[in-house]
Amino acid sequence: MARMPGAQYRPVVNVHHDGVRERRGLVLHVQDDTGSPYGWFNTPSSQASSDFWVRRDGYVEQYCDTGVDYAWAQAAGNPFYASVETEGHPDTALTGAQLEAVAHIYAWGHSEFGWPLKVVDSTTQHGLTYHGVGGAAWGNHPGCPGTLRRAQRLGVIARAGEILGGADGTSVSLAHVVAAAQRDPVAAQGSTTHRAEVLVVERALRAEGLLAAEWVDGSFGSRTVIAYAALQRRYGYTGAAADGIPGRASLTRLGAAHGFAVTA
Ligand SMILES: [Zn+2]
Repeated sequence: MARMPGAQYRPVVNVHHDGVRERRGLVLHVQDDTGSPYGWFNTPSSQASSDFWVRRDGYVEQYCDTGVDYAWAQAAGNPFYASVETEGHPDTALTGAQLEAVAHIYAWGHSEFGWPLKVVDSTTQHGLTYHGVGGAAWGNHPGCPGTLRRAQRLGVIARAGEILGGADGTSVSLAHVVAAAQRDPVAAQGSTTHRAEVLVVERALRAEGLLAAEWVDGSFGSRTVIAYAALQRRYGYTGAAADGIPGRASLTRLGAAHGFAVTA
């Protein structure tokens, strides 16, 4: 049984037992309503349910045995991803308490099922995806959960990484990466300061198409600084804010897109 500690467990009738085929991650939804959907989900004729529901104050209900049974939230996506409904409407953002609660759900799923700390806009990749991306096969809800909540997935993943405290082994220290970016370019060629963490960042820059494979070497040398500056410009930074030395915001965003958490 996979029940999240801290969630109110309220099993409903609208679930498919023993049907989960893969545990790829979590799908973010918006309720487009307020109040617990428990009654609706526990009514056979509604043909609807989700694994979780998060109220605006951060209270969480869980409606099925996540990872074993699947809820009826995203049609063809149900056997592959768990689901979280969030109280409110598509034109409003998640509250801080909701974001925190969704991050706790995701951190739990990471520990329980290996969901990677990653935002994906996909119906096949592992990570935190969203309902609308599934199109007709996922029930045709293009506006779920809306652009605001969709964008907040980066914050959810960043916060999940903090909650896990880097226990998953894919976290990098901002201080270490900054130290490397300041020392490695002026040290001997190929000199490394925090090799393992720099490699994580370099692989992400490589995946972004900004760094040639030969420079993915664990040394935050001048090529890596140039690549990071290009990333900062891509993220909208200019001038001294795009100097190639990682800042918390840009590194957190890169990490959310490529599966690593950022610690102090
Ligand atoms: Zn939805």
